[in-house]
Amino acid sequence: MTDRTGREIDYLRVSVTDRCNLRCVYCMPAQGVEAVPYDQLLTLEEIARICAAAARLGISRVKLTGGEPLVRKGCPRLVGMLKAIPGIREVTMTTNGVLLPRLLPQLTAAGLDAVNISLDTLDPARFEALTRSPMEGSVREAIDQALAAGLRVKVNCVATEEYNGEDLAELAGLARERRLDVRFIELMPIGLGRSLTPVSNDQVKARLEAVYGPMAPYRGRRRGNGPAVYWELPGFAGKVGFISAISHEFCGSCNRVRLTSTGFLKLCLHYRDGVPLRELAREGAGEEALAEVIRQAILQKPLHHDFGGCQAPNLERHTMAQIGG
Ligand code: SAM
Ligand code: SF4
Repeated sequence: MTDRTGREIDYLRVSVTDRCNLRCVYCMPAQGVEAVPYDQLLTLEEIARICAAAARLGISRVKLTGGEPLVRKGCPRLVGMLKAIPGIREVTMTTNGVLLPRLLPQLTAAGLDAVNISLDTLDPARFEALTRSPMEGSVREAIDQALAAGLRVKVNCVATEEYNGEDLAELAGLARERRLDVRFIELMPIGLGRSLTPVSNDQVKARLEAVYGPMAPYRGRRRGNGPAVYWELPGFAGKVGFISAISHEFCGSCNRVRLTSTGFLKLCLHYRDGVPLRELAREGAGEEALAEVIRQAILQKPLHHDFGGCQAPNLERHTMAQIGG
């Protein structure tokens, strides 16, 4: 469906849990994380019913996220349930990759189409400082195994001066031999992200060019569902992408809404606005009734974020893991 400004909304990001097996500094506090009680989480069946309702409105692509989606039991089964919904053409996932090698066979069997793996550095000590967890070989392994399984793979990196500013070229180097895209996502001043120093994508680009030479804009077919802008580096098999929500706002072409793990349909990352769907789903509302509530909410989607210092009373106060990044 289109919203009130004519934006085509066809993409839903579904958080399946607020729990995570890592503690990235810009996303979750080291300790004292209060996880949502299990009975407040949508069941897999409730998630599927809400997605089916959204599909009636033209949502055709779903991304599973979290928290860490793979810590939710039954995640591969959910992939299969979503793939079976008429109108849903693509089910993808964003993961920190730690559990991916173990679950890859089930996920591919269920029909997962693509995976985004978040990895901010290849340096074990800095990975440990950043995620507050030791780096197992598993994330890099996960990348290669996902490629070998035939999935489309993107590696997503959030660049901060404090933690990985000097590792960006090495990380982009993953795309030199491999057919995957490495994408740089500008740190958003949400939750704990406010306390760190972002490296803007213009700065990232300059750092990569200093090592690999000038980039050329990528002019091939469209890659993915989002606002990333892709570039080519000489001799690289994959591309480098930039998602520049802060330095180059792209709200005018925003195509997405979000469903939190507790069933709140969220219309924009920056604001709390949205509509709770869990009780409705739990009281037995059918797809048609849910679709009408979702439709009315999408018509209220904010026009744009205002990360530049807005003091509106409805600003998002939760961490990225609670919202579903
Ligand atoms: N655990 C999964 C993962 O790490 O991919 C999925 C959830 S995580 C919240 C989704 C993405 O949000 C990750 O790529 C993470 O780096 C990113 N993220 C978290 N906090 C952020 C922030 N303040 N600004 C920009 N990206 C952020
Ligand atoms: Fe967990 Fe992903 Fe947040 Fe890191 S970014 S703490 S992996 S949810």
